This record gives sequence, structure tokens and C-alpha cells, in this order.
Amino acid sequence: MNEKDLHDVIELRKTLHRLAELSGNENQTADYIHRYHQQFSPDSIVTGLGGNGLAVVFEGKKSGQSILLRCELDALPIPETVNFEYASKNPEVSHKCGHDGHMAILAGVAKHLSQNPLKRGRVILLFQPAEETGQGAKRVIEDPLFKNLEPDYAFALHNLPGYKKGKVLIKEGTFAAASVGMIVELHGATSHAGEPQNGRSPALALSKLIQDFSAVPQFYTSLLVYTSLGDAAKVTVIHAKLGEEAFGTSPGYCRFAATLRAYSKSTMAILIKQCTKHAKNTAKAYNLKVDVSFTEEFPEVYNDSGLTELVNDVATKKNYKVQRIEKPFSWSEDFGVFTQKYAGALFGIGSGAKHPSLHNPYYDFPDDILPVGVGIFTGIIDQIINNPIPG
Ligand SMILES: [Zn+2]
Ligand SMILES: [Zn+2]
Repeated sequence: MNEKDLHDVIELRKTLHRLAELSGNENQTADYIHRYHQQFSPDSIVTGLGGNGLAVVFEGKKSGQSILLRCELDALPIPETVNFEYASKNPEVSHKCGHDGHMAILAGVAKHLSQNPLKRGRVILLFQPAEETGQGAKRVIEDPLFKNLEPDYAFALHNLPGYKKGKVLIKEGTFAAASVGMIVELHGATSHAGEPQNGRSPALALSKLIQDFSAVPQFYTSLLVYTSLGDAAKVTVIHAKLGEEAFGTSPGYCRFAATLRAYSKSTMAILIKQCTKHAKNTAKAYNLKVDVSFTEEFPEVYNDSGLTELVNDVATKKNYKVQRIEKPFSWSEDFGVFTQKYAGALFGIGSGAKHPSLHNPYYDFPDDILPVGVGIFTGIIDQIINNPIPG
């Protein structure tokens, strides 16, 4: 990347950082991306994909294989705590996952494609909405507008604090965990706080659920599954609310939420079944009614082995350091929705060994890894367009 191109993507990254918007509300960000990409004269820009999503499409002169590169539009409900000159204009919302950087990388790819037109095939730069809530990828794929954009191969990257800056992190098979949000509502009956025996308070059931769900994950999966996949299941209690702050009333209702994680569909199915059973049994033991529901479902990200090797080849040729990850990451990414349907690969780029972690209030995307992202994506395009993968 020359100095001018690097300067442009850094400026774009900062502008996008200022615009930070929550999942599903990425209107201004999407508008800005739309206007910005017109300078590169793509063959088409499809807007309103699965909400605020947009696809910037470059076509080759001849037909050929189709490559989708995906980034995310959304920021997080985390207040901007650092006083940057490009601080978020929405003080309660900020880019603490680096999606501003991922978008800037795709813009760098768009510029490359405008200067180096495709000989054949097609490249789709997808700016996906609502990744953080696990809804965006699914909505994009289910959108009728996506019918004409279905790719042969899909790629995405995520910056990863905790790894040396610019290091490329790859793994075939499961790369990131599946997760789902579980909500348990317990219904009893309120009574006067002076006569709790006349009501049915869910207090004891709730405290039991918090303890049990926080306990060893082996409790929820069979030992067989657990030992064959390592620490394959994880349950994190994330929220609990009991009654109201009304000192004259014994509570009659509580709402409890936990995130369930696993590295495979089968372990996730066991986890869901066991946690549901446990919630129902606990409710029954305390004579309460129970509603169990699930939300924000992320399938595991499953990397195609051939495409993972392709990322490795491209990174090695460009002299980037590559590290093969041994175990999947315990976080989730809704790019798994794409890898369920298309051959795909998600890879990581180190953000710095001591960089604040993702979703940490002091996190900010490290601009010096922008060229690595652009370099690998453009390398992937060159490789597949010049040497189509045998179908
Ligand atoms: Zn995130
Ligand atoms: Zn992210």
C-alpha cells in the first residue's frame, strides 16, 4: 500500500469511528460507505441488504468465480471513554470491536479493484449490519436482494488483541464458538412483604439457577463430549432481575439470562437441552411457572481447509507472520452463518500482544494493521481470479 492509499484508509477509519451506531441502526455509516465508494466506480452498489447492509460489486470482463469479502457496520453500547480527536459523536456508542477498521480495509480493497480491474469473476464487498447481535448475517442471506449476490467463496477477518501486531492467525475447521442467549422467566405470585408465606417468590429458585448455571460446564454436557473436545462448553450468567424495588412487596417474577457456548452444533444441542431441563426442574421444585426462550444465536464459524491454506499461502508470499491456532476461540461471530452455506474462511490479524481486548472501553482499532488486511484480501482475490479453484 502506498502512503497516499494508507492515509486515505486511516482517514476513513477515523470518520467511521466518529459515526459509531448500534446494531440495526447503522443508517449514517451505511450512507457514508455508499457515498464514499462511488469514487471507485464499482459495477453496482446494492443497498438495504438485511436492513442497513450494502454490497459494493466489481465484475470482471469475463465470467468466473465469485468472492465475497465481508465486514461489519455496527458499533457497541459502550461509552466512548478515551478523548480522541475522532471520538464517537454518539457518547454512549463506540467502535470497541474494530469494525471501523474492518470497513476501512474493504474500502482499501475497493480502491485496489478500481485501479486493477478484474479480468474475470466477481468480487462482492459486503458491509453487513447487526453483527454484534447475531442477526445481521442471517438477515442478509435471507434477503431476496442477496439471491443475485450468492458467492462461491466467502472470507472475513477480525482484528485480535493478545497477538503480535500484524500476525495472521489461521485455523481450519471450527475457528470460533457457537453461542446462544438463554432467557428464563419464573412466574410465582406476589404477596405482602410482611406475609411472604402467602405468595410464591422465585428468589430461592433464581439463586439456585445462578449458582448451578455458573458451576462447571461438565454438569451440562456428557463427560464423553467434554473430554473429546476439550473445554467444549461454557455457560456465563449475564443478567438477573427479581421483583421490583418495592419494600412492601414480596416478588412474584424474575428474569434470568445466560450465554451458552460450544464448539459444535451437537454439543450446543446437548447444552440447550440440559439447561432447559434444569430450569424446568428448578421451577417445578419451587412451584413456579417457567418460560424458556432463546435469542441472538450464532452458529460456530467453520473454516474450509483449502481456503485456510489459501490464506496461509497469500500471507506467506507477502511475508506476513502466520500462526496456526490450535483451539477454536471462545467468542462467537455471525460469519458462521456464511460458512454454514458457502465455503469460507475467517482469519485473525493480531492487534498487539498488550492491546486492550475487544469490547474493552480502552480498545481502539490499531491503524498500522490496515495494510495487512488489504494485502491479504487483495492477495486472495488475485490468487482465485488467476488460478480458479477447481469446482
Ligand atoms: Zn464484537
Ligand atoms: Zn467484532
